[in-house]
Amino acid sequence: MAWRSSGSTNAELIANMLRYGVFNSERVAAAMTKVDRANYVLDKNAAYMDSPQRIGYDATISAPHMHAHAAENLLPFLHPGAKVLDVGSGSGYLTAVLFHLVDAPSAEGKGKVVGIEHIDELVQWSKENLRRDGLGKEMDEGRIIVVAGDGRQGMPNEGPYDAIHVGAAAPTMPQPLIEQLARPGRMFIPVGTSEQKIIQVDKDSEGNVKQQELIDVLYVPLTDKPANKSP
Ligand code: SAH
Repeated sequence: MAWRSSGSTNAELIANMLRYGVFNSERVAAAMTKVDRANYVLDKNAAYMDSPQRIGYDATISAPHMHAHAAENLLPFLHPGAKVLDVGSGSGYLTAVLFHLVDAPSAEGKGKVVGIEHIDELVQWSKENLRRDGLGKEMDEGRIIVVAGDGRQGMPNEGPYDAIHVGAAAPTMPQPLIEQLARPGRMFIPVGTSEQKIIQVDKDSEGNVKQQELIDVLYVPLTDKPANKSP
């Protein structure tokens, strides 16, 4: 059904996804409308297709419907002022969407998103993408940061996180990420190798952790940093 939801503009892509029931949240739609996918892809002609796209280094920018699904799943924890970790941040697209969802310029906690990505070139490129998309000031203020590192270890010094998104499939559940979830907090993570499922990990205010299987998916794997880094 991906073709039906595609659009000729960013706004049309989001509107079509809403119309065909790919997702329902107006808040997610508003945040995704603020992020122009053309700033995060290599092939600008395919920017508004509801399909994944190669971004080099064996990475892909996920399809818009998967980004919408992830944001909608995490939404109860993406209150203005919340802190979010985006593991395997790749193009930076979802990092930007998550930022718009937690952005609260005048509130006490201002909202912050930390992207972590292990390919240095993608870290650099995603920062350029975010600036091109109008988020330079927020990066200068440190409200959006993208760091190079092993996302399986998370980024403990910035935690705990109200929401954690993992954009690559972990062979097994990474414990450090569960530890870095706030009380309460939620993680959206694909887990598995040949068969992968999205697991929703919820930590309640007492620290109890519950895992729930959602849907079957196909993500690129969460791996060791590759030795060969050709695009
Ligand atoms: N949400 C991103 C997904 C990119 S694909 C987007 O839509 O653009 C998944 C990303 O995870 C790739 O960029 C890959 O380089 C990265 N990745 C894989 N293993 C990793 C690890 N151990 N630590 C950090 N990033 C990792």
